[in-house]
Amino acid sequence: MSDKVVGILGGGQLGRMLAASASLLNVNVVILDDGHHGPAKRIVAPTALHLSHVDGSFANPEKIRELANKVDILTIEIEHVNTATLQEVQSAFQHKELVVHPHPSTVEIIQDKYRQKVHLSSHGLPISDFVAVESSVESISDVAGKLGLPLMLKSRTLAYDGRGNFVLRELGQAQEAITFLNNRPLYAERWVPFKQEIAVMVVRAVDGQVQSYPVVETVHKDNICHLVFAPLRSRDPSLSQRARAIAETAVKSFSGAGVFGVEMFLMEDGKIFINEIAPRPHNSGHYTIEACETSQYENHLRAILSLPLGSTALKVPSAAMLNLIGYSSSMQEIQKTVDVALTIPGVSVHLYGKSECRKGRKMGHITIVADSDAQLRSRLRPLLESLPESTS
Ligand code: ATP
Ligand code: MG
Ligand code: MG
Repeated sequence: MSDKVVGILGGGQLGRMLAASASLLNVNVVILDDGHHGPAKRIVAPTALHLSHVDGSFANPEKIRELANKVDILTIEIEHVNTATLQEVQSAFQHKELVVHPHPSTVEIIQDKYRQKVHLSSHGLPISDFVAVESSVESISDVAGKLGLPLMLKSRTLAYDGRGNFVLRELGQAQEAITFLNNRPLYAERWVPFKQEIAVMVVRAVDGQVQSYPVVETVHKDNICHLVFAPLRSRDPSLSQRARAIAETAVKSFSGAGVFGVEMFLMEDGKIFINEIAPRPHNSGHYTIEACETSQYENHLRAILSLPLGSTALKVPSAAMLNLIGYSSSMQEIQKTVDVALTIPGVSVHLYGKSECRKGRKMGHITIVADSDAQLRSRLRPLLESLPESTS
């Protein structure tokens, strides 16, 4: 298929599913992650000594160079990587051609959520109001005066699963917010009273052509994606086309190849705002493994290997994805849902093989495919009923 070796920065569940997809195409992958037996490394046996995985941080320049030495193409499964080193190894690195996808400048813009918003706004894309804010009570009060309350305060960097967010409901919480967000560089967003959250995966080829997947509805609980429904059902016949066009325009504005996840807010009046973009496979696209003609993982590989992109169409009428989030340090609760899942037709279980279960940690997911929305609901119901009270 391709004799190019792909290096992945990050070895979590996204790296694992990318590696699983690479194995079907017989593409060799090398993983850089500080977990010796993390989700991705666990499923790839290196085919040669020089292709052994690298133990270390994807933020460590030395380790990134070590990975770069072993591969032809570098890609990421997480955006919190050292982009200065990616810039350095892009193009000629120790006398060999090395390509980084997506382009390091893309990752650099996206990993700072404030810079990402500035970029989207300068390209005329719809986003809600945002401003830079200092980590001081005065600055936060000043911004709250401009954008109103509640106010969404966000860490500019290293955010995931809402852990860098603080909803300021009254000015008296400003100091609490600064402490909670660890004095990290912040910015503020106007509160968006959305009707629904939606998302679109977009794959960008090396030549800049893009192809989008169907629009999905994402349901969050405690800031973590809980459920995804594909395709989005709506009475507005223009919605899907509008959301896909916005997502495609946004992804075209970046450089480099690969899949991107575009998270959006849908307002009561049908308006759409982009929330944020991920320059990599995304939780809202897990469903594509079973429900689409080509999964987000395979299309990411096809894109970075300059192979023809695969069809992004759904191959089933209705699909859903349920995240399996750790409830405690025990897998017991998740196992209960898995046991139920194994008795339902059209249901696929994915467990990530993480060494420890923790409250709020993504441990796996379940995809449900069906011939109709009614059948989907009847297949999903027993799974939701099996969840512990507070998470269903
Ligand atoms: P992810 O794991 O998706 O990377 P994250 O830590 O980057 O998450 P965001 O996507 O910025 O966090 O926010 C998490 C959730 O908080 C959103 O999915 C949405 O439900 C809510 N949210 C974010 N921004 C706003 C806003 N401006 N107004 C209202 N709700 C918001
Ligand atoms: Mg994010
Ligand atoms: Mg998000």
